Amino acid sequence: MLHIDCPWCGPRDEIEFRYGGQAGVACPEDPAALTDEEWAEYLFMRDNPKGWFHERWFHAAGCRTWFTVRRHTVTHEIKPGGPDGATDPGGGRGRDAPERRSRFRRGRA
Ligand SMILES: [Zn+2]
Repeated sequence: MLHIDCPWCGPRDEIEFRYGGQAGVACPEDPAALTDEEWAEYLFMRDNPKGWFHERWFHAAGCRTWFTVRRHTVTHEIKPGGPDGATDPGGGRGRDAPERRSRFRRGRA
């Protein structure tokens, strides 16, 4: 069982949370301008590292807030912080990380 440290509530059991996937995946600014391959990449392709991974969690049975943590995919150690170092409680800041935003701009006029 994971113990996840909610920035608002403190450490809680994993069962109180819902997994939100990889942090820092920005929604394309103009989805209609993407090719099918770029749209598929946005929808389905995520990093799958062996090691530290930034991910979003939702405290469903607590404060009902989204936040970002770093989790080691082998040891499941969890540390606070998103790709930009922020936990962004209550916001979507992790989704707009610059390194992810530029990924979907290629090939656009
Ligand atoms: Zn909480």
